[in-house]
Amino acid sequence: MTTHPSHCDCCRPVSRRDFISTAALATAALALPRLSAASAASAPAQPPFIDIHFHHNSAGAPIPGSKDANDPTMVAIGKRNDAEVVAHQKNTGALFSVILSTNEVTMAFAQRDPARWACFAREPADDTDARQKIERLLKKGAIGIGEMKETIACDAPQMLQVFELARDYDVPVLMHFEDTLWCDGFSRFHRVLEKFPTVKFIGHAQTWWSNINKNYTPAAGKSPKGPVTAGGLTDRWLADYPNLYCDLAANSGNNALTRDVEFARAFVIRHQDKVLFGSDCICATGVGPTCITVRKFEALAALKLDEKVQAKMYRDNARRVLKLKAA
Ligand SMILES: [Zn+2]
Ligand SMILES: [Zn+2]
Ligand SMILES: [Zn+2]
Repeated sequence: MTTHPSHCDCCRPVSRRDFISTAALATAALALPRLSAASAASAPAQPPFIDIHFHHNSAGAPIPGSKDANDPTMVAIGKRNDAEVVAHQKNTGALFSVILSTNEVTMAFAQRDPARWACFAREPADDTDARQKIERLLKKGAIGIGEMKETIACDAPQMLQVFELARDYDVPVLMHFEDTLWCDGFSRFHRVLEKFPTVKFIGHAQTWWSNINKNYTPAAGKSPKGPVTAGGLTDRWLADYPNLYCDLAANSGNNALTRDVEFARAFVIRHQDKVLFGSDCICATGVGPTCITVRKFEALAALKLDEKVQAKMYRDNARRVLKLKAA
């Protein structure tokens, strides 16, 4: 995968010839990194990237009986400790990561290394004090809200209250669209986009990606395969609403990138200022075929995007939309 200009020395694999000539020139061989030519050549090329969709819960798994305790993803997230989370992002090569759905404990973890981490705030939107709790985290330094993964509809009055908060604090909102389960009512969401034109919404998850296809019906399931006909709701709204964005996170993002490569390539190019890189991987290591991030790199490499589009998708859109200072 070509992700860097050929003159970029920081990531260029070291060839045997380079290694030998560099070693010969060095007056102090001990100053060189202990790379063998073989190990350098086998290292996979990884794009420098900002991960805007990552999870961690330093406080551990959700409390039994709490709203999030019913979400297997949240339970899995809670099993990963601080060291595993740091290692995961280091192994995948993330320059900077945004932890979603943070709580005060995880926010303290992130704030110990602000050059690498930022947080989005989220509390269950149907909690009576959701707005106050989210606002408290925004005041502590959260740079966005989400991901909203709620048992109420995406346009429920309690959701609108959260969107008002996003408007007032001028921060983006990340949405998990999965009809009938989380944030139901996707087909009505354009009204929210119209009601909050200054709020940047970032779409993700099964219903979001299923609706790239103009011919999608729920009967096709949550992870539809096969050719895509352009012009689905997702595709149209990204074109029509300047305040709508998306991230490529999770298996749903990987499915959308791989089910019809020709469509996916055209989609990313068409929405090159709107697509952000996110992983949503909850594996413990950040290496190997079970890592969602690793598989996403492979899926994106198959699209053969040019350097300009890759730079936007992997880094620059995140810097702009999330107003990142450290990354
Ligand atoms: Zn999600
Ligand atoms: Zn997520
Ligand atoms: Zn992983």
